[in-house]
Amino acid sequence: MSREQQAVETAKKAFLTGRSKPLEYRIAQLKSLQRFIVERQKDINAALKKDLNKSELGTPLYETLGLEGEILLAVNKLAEWAAPRPVEKNLLTLSDQVFIQPEPLGVVLIIGAWNYPWAVTIQPLIGAIAAGNAAVVKPSEVSAHTSKVMEELLPLYLDKEMYPVVTGGVPETQELLRQRFDHIFYTGNSTVGKLVMEAASRHLTPVTLELGGKSPCYIDKDCDLSIACRRITWGKFTNCGQTCIAPDYILCEPSIQDRVIEEIRKSIKEFYTEDPKTCEDYSRIINQRHFKRVMAMMADSTTAVGGDHDESQCYIAPTVLRDVKPDAKVMQEEIFGPLLPILTVSGVDEAIRFINDREKPLALYVFSPDNKLIKRVIAETSSGGVLANDCLVHYSVSALPFGGVGNSGMGCYHGKHSFDQLSHLRGCLIKSLGMEGVNNMRYPPHTAKKLDW
Ligand code: NAD
Repeated sequence: MSREQQAVETAKKAFLTGRSKPLEYRIAQLKSLQRFIVERQKDINAALKKDLNKSELGTPLYETLGLEGEILLAVNKLAEWAAPRPVEKNLLTLSDQVFIQPEPLGVVLIIGAWNYPWAVTIQPLIGAIAAGNAAVVKPSEVSAHTSKVMEELLPLYLDKEMYPVVTGGVPETQELLRQRFDHIFYTGNSTVGKLVMEAASRHLTPVTLELGGKSPCYIDKDCDLSIACRRITWGKFTNCGQTCIAPDYILCEPSIQDRVIEEIRKSIKEFYTEDPKTCEDYSRIINQRHFKRVMAMMADSTTAVGGDHDESQCYIAPTVLRDVKPDAKVMQEEIFGPLLPILTVSGVDEAIRFINDREKPLALYVFSPDNKLIKRVIAETSSGGVLANDCLVHYSVSALPFGGVGNSGMGCYHGKHSFDQLSHLRGCLIKSLGMEGVNNMRYPPHTAKKLDW
């Protein structure tokens, strides 16, 4: 039996004991997870520094504070989420009990990505624990230091039979995907997302696919460009542009392009100094393969800001590209790096057409002081989520479902959405054996007299 098979068998056996069903068990596990984050913050930070040069002070903001918030919410709300949910009755069930009973699915496979390796791997685990499932946790091999910390330390805090951690790369993940799960929760790129779904289909396993894509950012000419560009600079260059909901490209009218560039240049200097390479808060590209991929995207566009790079450090400066054409290399796939192309459009109509001509993105950003324009963009486009006049922060609102649509993914999570996503919402109807008279009409023989009431 392979290591992967063993992990799945162990989790399955643990689930079948039924010990993950009582809410007390789930709450105790969630509290242990919380303790892990607090007690092991130094290990977490050190691994992230090695993986992505993430700053020690910035790590809680982007990786662990959100997790702690989600744990606290789940602990406080679990009784409410897990309780039977009464629903509206129809005439024939007026005196019956009609309700939805959330129940655990079984064993969930969580496949994480490397860019925010804690956030995207542990957050689904919070949902899986809250919903009473077992889970096999597969962190990304690309963020190798984080993966090692997860493998070594998580079992010291959690029920290691119920939540085994399996490390490894593509062959190991493929071996896991051959096993039978009750749900697969995958975060990563759309190409592998398709492979995950294909593998899941062999066992009719439902999937949540948290994917990426090119998230557009439209800037209306009437907005305060200084504030808009400061927020966009933050959203784009945080984690060196390796954020699934980073604004991928800007759409704006030609008349404001120069000012947009200047404002972004100012904000880059404010956040990362004249020399981002020496700035603690500026991350690195995860590895040489991705470095080369991002560098190749710059080839046929004009650099307005940045462009410096150092392969030995996987460093690429915050870079703005101007007058980018829709057929430029940088517009062919998700950038996932610190390049910000600006494409000019004649106005919001063309921006909407441009967005709708492409795959549905994970996030859509619009900056404008005009509420009507914002509402119009929301009404006439589609995306996983939409955020006006800021970047990234919709991710932090637990009440909002987080997830993609179309090519950017399927299913959603965060807060109660995670609980629901990883539960079976079972429809339940409890009748009494009395009042048989009301059922007469449904029993054959179907005569006109029976229908005449
Ligand atoms: P990655 O390379 O770490 O892959 C993700 C996982 O898939 C890993 O655990 C890896 O082992 C596994 N994997 C890779 N190739 C495989 C294969 N051929 N067969 C089976 N498993 C395989 O991460 P990535 O895909 O480079 O991550 C970046 C992408 O993830 C971007 O597109 C980004 O937008 C997206 N992302 C989305 C979210 C979200 O919440 N929607 C969050 C983070 C990242």
